[in-house]
Amino acid sequence: MNLLDLAKELGLDPRKTSASHGGEYHCPCPSCGGNDRFMFWPEDDRYWCRQCNSKGDAIQFCRDFLGLSFQAACMKAQKNSANSNSQSRFKPADTSSIREPSGSWKDKARHFSDTAHQRLLIDKTAMGLVVQRGLSFNSIQQYRLGWNPIKAFHRRSDWGLKETENRKWICLPAGIVIPILENSQIQKLKIRKSEWKEGNFYGKYYEVPGSSNMIPIFGDPSIPICIVVEAEFDAMLVIQEAGDLCNCIAIGGAQKRPDLSTQQWLVSKKLLLFALDFDVAGKKEYFYWHESYPNLEPWPVPEEKSPGDFFVKGGSLRMWISSGLKLLQNHELLEDSRHQRL
Ligand SMILES: [Zn+2]
Repeated sequence: MNLLDLAKELGLDPRKTSASHGGEYHCPCPSCGGNDRFMFWPEDDRYWCRQCNSKGDAIQFCRDFLGLSFQAACMKAQKNSANSNSQSRFKPADTSSIREPSGSWKDKARHFSDTAHQRLLIDKTAMGLVVQRGLSFNSIQQYRLGWNPIKAFHRRSDWGLKETENRKWICLPAGIVIPILENSQIQKLKIRKSEWKEGNFYGKYYEVPGSSNMIPIFGDPSIPICIVVEAEFDAMLVIQEAGDLCNCIAIGGAQKRPDLSTQQWLVSKKLLLFALDFDVAGKKEYFYWHESYPNLEPWPVPEEKSPGDFFVKGGSLRMWISSGLKLLQNHELLEDSRHQRL
């Protein structure tokens, strides 16, 4: 939004007083009051109060008068300028579109997942597959990973899902069972198919119908650094290796968009390190993330495609993240120089 939109949003009732610099507007000062002492030029992205001498641009306006953080202010100010077309292209999923699984779904998911977890703990071969991914025994227990040994057909009604003439069953493939929890309740259930091979028509992950479409946060959400990865396994490894330095979100598919509350949470972070698989899909997605989050830096793993692959080949996720933290300084410098310029 430009200064004119922002002033209107704040209820300042600006009046156009001249056409100079693409339009000059006067209104009361949001800081010291009066009638017309606050002047601004939306085209120049500049404001000035001739009484209290407060001045700045749209971003400064958002910080001083709307109380937004630097990142949130950038987003708000960008919203106007970059706009109308980019807004529709980059519209985040809104909160109303968050699906909460039903109570019977959660009960069924808990039961299935607990059984699978117990099975994994006693099945050496299956355990080998999980350990191969670099996950420690502690992580396996913490995330309650499980094992589904054979393809299983369940009635949809058993999961509290609607049945129709043609849709009576869900088919749970064999593989590693990944429950995604929030407040110790299962919100989402995925299976990494054991029979999946490169080139298969369907993806390597199966998401049980009825799962929430929320984007899970791994680790301590209060840490101001967040790593953005694609797969849940990557997120678990990041927390296992560097959970004291950062938290992590697994967007679970390159094209997924954060919902509004996740978006606000992401914007409030000091630094987002973007580590989506840098395949064709990942690179394309980077454009959206770059446009939407001024606090984001691309930070692919130095080798291999994903943090998980990098770790399994002997790379240190901790060192990779530690060196990414140095980018934080750049962001702070950027913010400082902005202050000085104004
Ligand atoms: Zn003033």
